[in-house]
Amino acid sequence: MIKAENITKKFGKQTVLKNISTTIQHGEVVAVIGPSGSGKSTFLRCLNLLELPTEGKIWLNKQEITDPKQNKLTVRKHIGMVFQHFHLFPHMTVLDNVAYAPQKVKGISKQEAYQIAKKLLAKVGLTDKEESYPNRLSGGQKQRVAIARALAMEPEIMLFDEPTSALDPEMVKEVLDVMKDLANTGMTMVVVTHEMNFAKEVADRILFLDQGKLIEEADPSIFFQAPATERAKDFLDKVL
Ligand code: ADP
Ligand code: MG
Repeated sequence: MIKAENITKKFGKQTVLKNISTTIQHGEVVAVIGPSGSGKSTFLRCLNLLELPTEGKIWLNKQEITDPKQNKLTVRKHIGMVFQHFHLFPHMTVLDNVAYAPQKVKGISKQEAYQIAKKLLAKVGLTDKEESYPNRLSGGQKQRVAIARALAMEPEIMLFDEPTSALDPEMVKEVLDVMKDLANTGMTMVVVTHEMNFAKEVADRILFLDQGKLIEEADPSIFFQAPATERAKDFLDKVL
């Protein structure tokens, strides 16, 4: 579904992604892990063109999205993204947050957009918060709204950048549970996370980044039991 080939990203003189290549299959859940500053967010942002790779190509369903002729907004319609800090619209109710983009970007009717939004809010367990404003929600609730909002666009792939890192510990599970459910529906997901148990249980594959390089790409059972590199061993020693 996604193919990245020799992705290099430079910010000024700093090279933050070095020649990363990988392929993500339809329905696959890929966990991206690695130390802070290793390029995980930048890699994710390249996949939906929030950053443009300095070198290399990315394909989404056989279409090269890094082709300068591609319309970034058209590409992003197919890719949902959830951030660490939610980014909800503060002046809109929960229901409006979720129903907004399908109307604006996809041009579907108001009635249909609200139907979809209500269904998705039920799915993430927030029917009772439809009329609330984001500032009245807990972090876990906000993140579940953010997930519902991304899903409202019916994306083919969902990108998550440390979706639970800003949450109080007691709220992490409710968000991971929603993500697990989503994975079980067959959604293609790329998840940057420090939740090693989630990565172990839910991911089909681990990408381990260090200093901008893709150091290991492995099945979770192999990666967590017998990492192939010293760097991954060191990292796992620190976080597990
Ligand atoms: P991670 O998500 O693994 O913590 P990032 O992808 O956020 O890593 O960052 C990788 C490196 O790129 C860091 O050194 C960071 O400072 C740098 N970086 C990220 N975004 C920018 C930017 N917009 N401009 C300049 N440097 C950036
Ligand atoms: Mg990051």
